[in-house]
Amino acid sequence: MTYNINEKGYYGEFGGAYIPEMLYPNVEELRLNYLKIMAEPSFKEAFDQLLKDYVGRPSPLYFAKRMSAKYKTKIYLKREDLNHTGAHKINNTVGQILMAQRLGKTRIIAETGAGQHGVATATVCALMGMECIVYMGEIDIARQAPNVARMKMLGAKVVPALSGSRTLKDATNEAIRDWINNPVDTHYIIGSVVGPHPYPDMVARFQAIVSEEIQWQLKEKEGTEKPTYVVACVGGGSNAAGAFYHYLEDTDVKLIAVEAAGKGVDSGESAATSILGKEGIIHGSKTLLMQTKDGQITEPYSISAGLDYPGVGPMHAHLYKTGRAEFMAITDDDAMLAGLELSKTEGIIPAIETAHSLAIFKYKTFKPEDIVVINLSGRGDKDLQNYIEYFDL
Ligand SMILES: *Cc1c(COP(=O)(O)O)cnc(C)c1O
Repeated sequence: MTYNINEKGYYGEFGGAYIPEMLYPNVEELRLNYLKIMAEPSFKEAFDQLLKDYVGRPSPLYFAKRMSAKYKTKIYLKREDLNHTGAHKINNTVGQILMAQRLGKTRIIAETGAGQHGVATATVCALMGMECIVYMGEIDIARQAPNVARMKMLGAKVVPALSGSRTLKDATNEAIRDWINNPVDTHYIIGSVVGPHPYPDMVARFQAIVSEEIQWQLKEKEGTEKPTYVVACVGGGSNAAGAFYHYLEDTDVKLIAVEAAGKGVDSGESAATSILGKEGIIHGSKTLLMQTKDGQITEPYSISAGLDYPGVGPMHAHLYKTGRAEFMAITDDDAMLAGLELSKTEGIIPAIETAHSLAIFKYKTFKPEDIVVINLSGRGDKDLQNYIEYFDL
């Protein structure tokens, strides 16, 4: 059993590239080149340099003393919230902009829902002086005004998707249409471990810096590279893929993936994709997704925009199906309380996405000698309005 991708682009039965024929040349160009480019010393050097000087890596591995005392176990927080732009997403966009340059591309497109990936993409385009077009549903543009303003300040053009439900799914369709029309000069930066092969694997490799650092940081602090558990929240699955990556094949290390239960797994308003999902194809890959009996995609719901996705990356579908990772679903209410708790016990205000993974201590007990590493995927600044309304602050 392997938990990594095979040469055909599958994790077990999940993954692959289910794309319209007109997209084939673009995806094929990437597939044939991505591993070769990533292995080039000059690529590695440029990537490492930017992660260090621009993103601010390595991000600290912080021993959360008061949380540990409260839950009677050893809790470490991997501080992706301290990265430039406030989350793990920048690791991937830095990698992909370098990839785009090596492929000779001059124009970048992306799709965004809540705007976080759009901001991370606009950021690296400004850094490299590249043209940037971000597709975003008209409804999302209205809901996420601060991120739209950020993208504009960074020089990106934000194009509204006016069809369908005017949200992420429709923005993705627009981006794909653009890419088909501009195959030569354009690279499409996908923001999570989703989409057709090779995207899930390429994004996982860019995010793998997270577990690479955990290994040596934990060695310094605990004398071992291996935690007992690695925990991460899952929307599409990129921060979890990064935190799990170097531990995937090492079954001594237990993996916990935390999904958003929304108002409850059985409430009809949820984003617990693995638990509720059935096999299907979304964004060019075979995976688990929430759908009706006749295969229509169900609208997901979560209080956190970043977890509000009807599918999950194929790596996670495989981790779920094989039982390699334990999947937990955490409600809006539990996540909000856990976000407040981390703020008060450690002085760290987490993103609401991240707060889901902190809520597991309410439902699962750990041994005093266990080392539990939580991937703190992002900071809560962007969620302040949500916290204000929820807690009446
Ligand atoms: C986007 C986002 C997520 C969810 O995306 P993944 O690809 O599942 O990591 C989680 N946390 C934060 C802070 C995010 O911005």
